Amino acid sequence: MKLNERGLLVVISGPSGVGKGTVRKALFEIEGHDLVYSISMTTRPPREGEVDGEDYYFVSKEEFERRIKEDKFLEYAEFVGNYYGTPKDKIDEQIDLGKEVVLEIEVQGALQVREKAKDGVFIFIAPPTKEALFRRLLRRGTENPKSIQNRMDKAEREFPLAHKYDYIVVNDEVTNAADRIIAIIRAEHAKTERAIYKYKEMLEVK
Ligand code: 5GP
Repeated sequence: MKLNERGLLVVISGPSGVGKGTVRKALFEIEGHDLVYSISMTTRPPREGEVDGEDYYFVSKEEFERRIKEDKFLEYAEFVGNYYGTPKDKIDEQIDLGKEVVLEIEVQGALQVREKAKDGVFIFIAPPTKEALFRRLLRRGTENPKSIQNRMDKAEREFPLAHKYDYIVVNDEVTNAADRIIAIIRAEHAKTERAIYKYKEMLEVK
């Protein structure tokens, strides 16, 4: 990549249980791309094995609310009783360095980013079917029946919001989904509005 080519802000989003996190991890295993994961901040307590500063920045509710007042978030949302937010600092800096900054966030947050970052690339991860989503939530074993029902209801409300995204990637197979995201990143870099300035002289209208 040329030094002066900016990276992309890539927003991976979609309903709870669709496998956003797994797809994002698979994406980072594909070599040869300058991807940076934007570590979110949350008030949810760490799950077993989660590391502060790696999976999330874990903070108290007071700390999170202080940062909201100080306008420190690109977006934030409340999700099943906890705050989640994307710290603003460093995102632009990384993009200017040519890195693709990847956000993995829920739908409300993604729509907030859409308003602020017009040149971001918004990807909705969809399940192959509603039943597949239901089975995944059941299998995950982290949710009780009430919570599974809540998440299914929420997913029903989120499905129609897919039309606000640039791309829909079906998570039929995790590695397929990750490959499709790489293809999207490549295609976005080749878009005329992003690529033409590199060949300005040659492609100039005379
Ligand atoms: P979990 O508690 O399972 O780690 O995450 C719950 C939901 O919050 C997931 O859908 C995840 O993608 C989303 N999430 C994680 N970080 C952020 C963030 O910074 N902002 C928003 N809006 N959602 C986030």
